[in-house]
Amino acid sequence: MEEGLQIITYGDVSRAKGLKGLSLEDARAEGLRLRIVYSFQDAVRIALRDKNVMNIFFAVGFDTTAPSTAYILEKGLPDNLLIYSCYRYVPPSVGYLLLSDDILFDGIINPGHSSTVTGMKPYKKYFDYKPIPMVFSGFEPIDILISIYQVLKQLRDRSPRMYNEYTRSVTWEGNVKAMKTLFKVFNLDEGLWRGLGIIDDSAFEVRDKFREYDARFQYGLEKPSRSYSMPKGCRCADIIKGKATPTECPLYLKACSLENPIGPCMVSVEGTCRIWAEHKIIGEIYGG
Ligand code: SF4
Repeated sequence: MEEGLQIITYGDVSRAKGLKGLSLEDARAEGLRLRIVYSFQDAVRIALRDKNVMNIFFAVGFDTTAPSTAYILEKGLPDNLLIYSCYRYVPPSVGYLLLSDDILFDGIINPGHSSTVTGMKPYKKYFDYKPIPMVFSGFEPIDILISIYQVLKQLRDRSPRMYNEYTRSVTWEGNVKAMKTLFKVFNLDEGLWRGLGIIDDSAFEVRDKFREYDARFQYGLEKPSRSYSMPKGCRCADIIKGKATPTECPLYLKACSLENPIGPCMVSVEGTCRIWAEHKIIGEIYGG
């Protein structure tokens, strides 16, 4: 481990196991300087305070969080702060799921938070290629119910279309200003998605113009390998593709738990395995 180096990232990311089965939290136990933050602004504040170390912000997230990072990065960073971008662009991943031959969806409910930024427009080409019900949904239970109803209605009427249920937030064009800033600082490249593999034009890479802030360039780091495989036994890939449920994973609530997550579906608060596990615990507490 390099001396004088400090990693800054989000809490859930710090628990995710890497290629060698170690998380950043595990590495912290072995001496890594790790700081947990809620935003890139916090990382800037830390860098301004901890001037004696080089800080690397491990930027993991989607088109939802990337614009605020881009906005700050465009204006310049403290000398002792770099970014390692693992930001992902969501529309190509939905396109991948839609267009894959081995995944048989009848309809799709698109993420409202991401679509608020990207807009509905980037999904049009996927819908045109495979016209199945595509609903842009909010997060409240009533949003989800309406979205499921809309998918079923379109299937019944055999009239698939792109339907915006989340009109209070999502528009056709999205947040044009945020997207402009995003593409000023990042360009799209192929990206590795755990469980899915490599997806073209789905990773936000720091543009050459901003290389002075790019940890990957500054340290000559390779991009994640194409040969990356999921932890042994983990069925996240099937779960993400809708081919299995968490309880069908042999590691579920055994080797892989809320306290010791092995796959990405157990790490994120939005991960299917984590949600299943949390509800199981709630069910036990309340006798459900
Ligand atoms: S329970 Fe854990 S190991 Fe199994 S699929 Fe879910 S995240 Fe992967």
